[in-house]
Amino acid sequence: MPDHVIPPPVQAAVPVAGGGSFPVRRIYCVGRNYAEHAREMGHDPDREPPFFFTKPADALLTGGADMPYPPMTADLHHEMELVVALKSGGADIGEAEAIRHVWGYAAGLDMTRRDVQDAAKKARRPWDMAKGFDHSAPIGEMVPAGGAVPGRIELRVNGAIRQSSDVGKLIWSIPETIAYLSKLVRLEAGDLIFTGTPEGVAAVTRGDLLEGMVEGVGDVRVRIA
Ligand code: MN
Repeated sequence: MPDHVIPPPVQAAVPVAGGGSFPVRRIYCVGRNYAEHAREMGHDPDREPPFFFTKPADALLTGGADMPYPPMTADLHHEMELVVALKSGGADIGEAEAIRHVWGYAAGLDMTRRDVQDAAKKARRPWDMAKGFDHSAPIGEMVPAGGAVPGRIELRVNGAIRQSSDVGKLIWSIPETIAYLSKLVRLEAGDLIFTGTPEGVAAVTRGDLLEGMVEGVGDVRVRIA
């Protein structure tokens, strides 16, 4: 094995509640997975199969660090989401076996340059620079799946409730999402899935404090700097 010609990139990881860290391979995200959010974005939630986009693993922002307001946008939106972490994977995973691949959960934010996304949609261009920019995935501590039952999902900005729903309202459930995604790509240990955001997405500005929680899972906290 020849030596690396540059130092290896740092392994992305999410801290686990109580100690240790979960190394991350890929980040998948589900689009429009709550009916009320699909409607607020101008879509009919009943007619669409799930669709996916990705963020780079090193877009994760952990440990409650400040999120620098990103360049090239004037419309940075919050999307509060339940994040699912896989301990194993495969292709063509059946719905009945899907949950066995889950290591744990976390509360996360799919931060979005909404103006860049709107322009991409109009021009039929990719969403990557709207979704996968640096620090675009703030995430809280991960908890093991055993015993964790994700319930209410909520986001406060400067103390005021902006998003409030329940993970039970996912259009595509966690097993359905894993099964469908595994038909498109082979899933592996270390993969994260941001499962989609409920209604109430809106812009944030410098100085705003975002405090999200998923009942039964945990919190995510980030200040926009
Ligand atoms: Mn999202």
